Amino acid sequence: MKFKRPRGTNDLFGAQMERWLEVERRLSSFIRAYGYTEIRTPIFESADLFIRAVGEGTDIVSTEMYTFSDKKGRRLTLRPENTAPVMRAYLENGLHRTGGLTRFYYIGPMFRYDRPQAGRYRQFHQIGVEAIGSRNPAVDAEVIEISLGIYGTLGFPPLDVRLNSVGCPVCRPAFKEILKNELEGMKDSLCVNCGERALINPLRIFDCKECDEVKRRLPVITDHLCDECREHFVRLKLILDGLGIGFIHDPLLVRGLDYYSKTAFEILHPELGAQNALCGGGRYDGLAEDCGGVFTPAVGFSAGLERLIGTLPENFAIDGEVDEGSAYFVLLEGSVEIQALAAANELREGGGRAVVDLSGRGLKKQLKAASDGGFSFAVIIGADEMRSGEAAVKDLVSGEQEMVSFNSLASYIRNRTEEGR
Ligand code: AMP
Repeated sequence: MKFKRPRGTNDLFGAQMERWLEVERRLSSFIRAYGYTEIRTPIFESADLFIRAVGEGTDIVSTEMYTFSDKKGRRLTLRPENTAPVMRAYLENGLHRTGGLTRFYYIGPMFRYDRPQAGRYRQFHQIGVEAIGSRNPAVDAEVIEISLGIYGTLGFPPLDVRLNSVGCPVCRPAFKEILKNELEGMKDSLCVNCGERALINPLRIFDCKECDEVKRRLPVITDHLCDECREHFVRLKLILDGLGIGFIHDPLLVRGLDYYSKTAFEILHPELGAQNALCGGGRYDGLAEDCGGVFTPAVGFSAGLERLIGTLPENFAIDGEVDEGSAYFVLLEGSVEIQALAAANELREGGGRAVVDLSGRGLKKQLKAASDGGFSFAVIIGADEMRSGEAAVKDLVSGEQEMVSFNSLASYIRNRTEEGR
């Protein structure tokens, strides 16, 4: 085979795709119950949007973006995350003028040029929510509740949310200076990456898995918050306590994107290895202004679907829809396809599911496809059946077979299905 899928991407089909669709359906309905509605933005955006919003000193912008020029020389980027595009859409469509809280959710592919490994891909999928237009820490609590709820609704055992405050443009710069000074004396203990980071963005050291020992000796941001950030954090913790939402304050938690302010949180999976972050989120009050808009406080999260689906509980089952009758038409003769297609249509019109095997393969293979596809009945039609005006209808559960006239195939299958319910 000459062509292979690009490194770090996946093909989804068959049973795996059915699981994805089921997860997406259940999560959408869970999130919609909180009043969030879906937003779909373009897969590519102006490169500058991400450079401005995510931040130049971040891994995403410095090494991971798929950026290209279109025929007019515009610099475009396959979205590496969807918070900046949603904020861009919010501002561009004038939604800030409504004055209320806008609640959006999204599902879709994201692209990051990263070293592929288990749980880390170059095209991956996220489901996320963005609540835009309020500073109220109760909104942070709602978003955190939803982020935990998506795992709960799929049957995951209770997971911990790790929570921190990363300050704001009032208190963070001073804390960064304090950090820089501290790091000055620890240069020899830092990894090569962090040696450079210490000067550009010292907070990123908390993201480094190699510098654990140094991290523990550093001052923590929650001891250096301004009054507003401290009050916000205290209030958020009170609301979470009031709602019975368990959290762990992790003073070392920072997030890899620059736009976060105040609240930052993360949900880890206890059984995943290096790539154990299921979900990350936080508040990004400065993002609207970074995008050139008016000040608009906002908070959201984003959860990776590959990691979520890869760790679904064993008892996760696909909810069956109400069965209105399903039949697989096994054709032994090309000449009978019109009758089969017409009968299949009749079954579908009554809400049933019907597939006509148009492959021309043998009886055995067609019957196997019928049971693999989860059909209740196989309708077998050959030359003899055509002459007699009746098809052989095989109950794929009991194995019983009966002759049924062509005109009453659909009603026969519907009635038998109803009897069995
Ligand atoms: P982030 O936007 O980096 O905060 O990521 C949010 C979530 O998306 C993470 O917790 C992961 O579950 C998922 N994620 C991020 N990057 C990747 C990737 N390269 N491959 C698969 N999942 C990812």
